[in-house]
Amino acid sequence: MLSKVILQANIDKVETYFNRADKIVIVTHVSPDGDALGSSLGLYHFLSGQGKDVRVIVPNAFPDFLRWMPGAKDIVRYDKYSDFADKLIAEADVICCLDFNALSRIDAMAESVKAAEGRKVMIDHHLNPEPFCRVTISHPEISSTSELIFRLICRMGCFDDITREGAECIYTGMMTDTGGFTYNSNDRQIYFIIGELLSKGIDKDEIYRNVFNTYSEGRLRLMGYVLYEKMQVFPQFRAALIWLTKEEQGKFHYVKGDTEGFVNMPLQMKGICFSVFLREDTEKQMIKVSLRSVGAFPCNKVAAEFFNGGGHLNASGGELYGTMDEAIALFKQALVKYESLLLKN
Ligand code: 5GP
Ligand code: MN
Repeated sequence: MLSKVILQANIDKVETYFNRADKIVIVTHVSPDGDALGSSLGLYHFLSGQGKDVRVIVPNAFPDFLRWMPGAKDIVRYDKYSDFADKLIAEADVICCLDFNALSRIDAMAESVKAAEGRKVMIDHHLNPEPFCRVTISHPEISSTSELIFRLICRMGCFDDITREGAECIYTGMMTDTGGFTYNSNDRQIYFIIGELLSKGIDKDEIYRNVFNTYSEGRLRLMGYVLYEKMQVFPQFRAALIWLTKEEQGKFHYVKGDTEGFVNMPLQMKGICFSVFLREDTEKQMIKVSLRSVGAFPCNKVAAEFFNGGGHLNASGGELYGTMDEAIALFKQALVKYESLLLKN
């Protein structure tokens, strides 16, 4: 049995909102990952099944390895169809904000979501949710928003209405936000939920292959290049850094998603507990920063203090409007400042 994580009062409110709504919009964060899409599409399949007119809108492109997800074809990209998306957002009776905690995380969509009159519901697992929704279901102790969607649907008494397609999306989000159940994944209820999702007919092994084993040749060669040439290890700080310029990405025919997971690789070395990946963005003039840690080292603090970002204790990100040299210098400053915590971890 699952414990009751989400407050009953919040379940009741969301249920009432859904019952009264015809048009529902689901939005998620910029550069959507497996959990952002998994939770959004999981909820999309459920609400569509209840006869609602549902749309998922994302700020920009998502990686190729998530394209197979059921419903992905129907997702509206805000960067391509902003007028259409603005209309959907303005006309929605309910707007579900999934897998993000602050309007700044949806980039250009923020204004129209903020101005919209529909009832807003946040379902998320990041720390410190901002108060822009009528109902805020925020559970940082839960490892994925997709798991929260499963819990919400079940608590509304609708487990039977979860389809195989919906279950595939929910599983994908749970799997990707735990690195294939290798971190944040010691809660035994996760495995109870997986059992329930399997009862819907999902093929979890195939989902794993779809997400993790469908990369291009370019991605693998880029990985080799990065590990051989671009990874700098700072054993005295138990840390490592990888950085990639636009030019280097071009050389390996980079497409979105090709560097997914690179930031985790240095953590495979014994003794390394903090890893940072700096990548010159191919769309915007900025450096995208990814940070990962193991144990108690708070990479979200480093993200907030040095890289205009935030996130979870062990997985965070940020953005830097500056040069690569500046970003590398900031990383080195962070190592010095956090030396004692790095060595204690
Ligand atoms: P990733 O490294 O996979 O892009 O991001 C890991 C986690 O860091 C995300 O799940 C999210 O919680 C957080 N994150 C990523 N980028 C940003 C950012 O620009 N700002 C904030 N506040 N958090 C971010
Ligand atoms: Mn998530």
